[in-house]
Amino acid sequence: MTNVFAIPHQENGAAPGPQSAGRAQFEQAGHEQVVFCQDHRSGLKAIIGIYSTALGPALGGTRFYPYGSEDEALADVLRLSAAMAYKNALAGLDHGGGKAVIIGDPAQVKTEPLLRAYGRFVASLGGRYVTACDVGTRSEDMDIIARECRWATGRTTANGGAGDSSVLTAIGVMHGMRAAAEHAWGSASLHGRTVGVEGVGKVGHRLVGHLIEAGAEVVICDISPAAVDAVRARHPEVRAVADVRALAAEKLDILSPCALGGTLNERVVNALSARIVCGGANNQLAHHGIEKLLADRGILYAPDYVVNSGGVIQVADELAGFSFERARAATEQIFVTTGKVLAIADADGVPPSVAADRLAERRMSEVGRLRGIWLGTMGSA
Ligand code: NAD
Repeated sequence: MTNVFAIPHQENGAAPGPQSAGRAQFEQAGHEQVVFCQDHRSGLKAIIGIYSTALGPALGGTRFYPYGSEDEALADVLRLSAAMAYKNALAGLDHGGGKAVIIGDPAQVKTEPLLRAYGRFVASLGGRYVTACDVGTRSEDMDIIARECRWATGRTTANGGAGDSSVLTAIGVMHGMRAAAEHAWGSASLHGRTVGVEGVGKVGHRLVGHLIEAGAEVVICDISPAAVDAVRARHPEVRAVADVRALAAEKLDILSPCALGGTLNERVVNALSARIVCGGANNQLAHHGIEKLLADRGILYAPDYVVNSGGVIQVADELAGFSFERARAATEQIFVTTGKVLAIADADGVPPSVAADRLAERRMSEVGRLRGIWLGTMGSA
C-alpha cells in the first residue's frame, strides 16, 4: 500500500522514495518520472506523473479531486499521464505526456498558498512538465500557479491565456465525425444524418450548434434540465430524451458521447443502431473488450482521444502566444488523423483504438528518436 505522504518528514534525513506497491505500479506503467509533492503548512499533497518526454515537455492538466486514498490518486495520475502522451502525439504536438493530481476537495482546501506551493514544485521540474486545467482546476488557478512558475497554460484571457478550450474541442470533434462519416459512407457530409449527443455542457452544446449548421438532425440527453433547456431555447428543432439508454434506442446514424466517461457499456452498445460513435468525452469505453463488441456489431468507433484533442492543441498553442487561427488550423488536422487511424484499423484488422495507439507509438518512436542526434554545445532543442 502506497503511503508516501504518511511517512514523517525528516529535516536532516533523506526522504524515502515510493513504497513497493507504488514502485511496482510505476515500473509496470513504464513512466519516466513520478514526483510526490508535499507542503504541510498549506496542506498540499500532489503527485506529478511524467509518462514520456520523447516528443518534448510533458503536457497535461492538474486534477484536483478528493481521492479516497493515495493509491487511488497514484493510479489515476499514472493512467492519465500515459493517456496524455498518446493524445499529444496524435495531435501532432511537440509535447510528451504528463498529468498531475492534487489530493483533496477543491471546494474545501483550494487556497492561494496551496496552489503557489504546487506551482513551485512544477517549477522545480525545470520545464519537464507543463500544467493546465482539468477536473477541479480552472484558468484562474493557472494564473495563481503561474506566479510561481513559467510552466502553466490554459490561463485566463486577462492574463494572456486562450480562454475556454471547449470551443476548439467541439470543432475538433466535428472534424473527427466528418472523417468517420467519410470512412463509413464515402462522404464527409453530415447533412440529413441523425446524431445523438449525450451531454450538452461546454463541449456538447457547441457541437450541437455545429451539427445543426451542417444540416444534421440532433437528439440530446443531459442529466441537467437547465442544460437541455438552454440548447432547446437556441435550437427548438432539437429533440430531448431522458437518458443515454433512451438515446441509444433512437434511430441514430451517429452517437456522440460528450458527458463523462464510461458511456459505452454492453447495454448501450447492444442497443445502438448508430453506425458511428464519435464524441468529446474522455474514456468512453466502459472497460476493456467494448472496442471488440463495437467492431463485432459493425459500429465504427472514432477513438475519443483522437477526436477530442482540440482543447490540448489550444493550451499548447498558448505557450507560443495564442493564435486562434493557428490553433484552429492544427485542430482541422484531426480530420486527417482520424482518417489515418480508421484506415490503419482496416489494414491491420484491429479496432480503431488499437490503431490509434500504434500510430501514436510510431510518432513517439520515430520523432522522439531524433532527440538522440547530438546538436553540439550550441544546440537548442
Ligand atoms: P461539462 O461539465 O461542461 O459538460 C458535461 C455535461 O454532461 C453537463 O451538462 C452534465 O450535466 C452532463 N452529464 C453528466 N453526466 C451525464 C449523464 N450521465 N448523462 C447525460 N449527461 C450527463 O464538461 P465539458 O467540458 O463539456 O466536457 C465534456 C466531456 O468532454 C468530458 O468527458 C471532458 O473530460 C471531455 N473533454 C472536454 C474538453 C474541453 O475542452 N472542455 C477537452 C477534451 C475532453
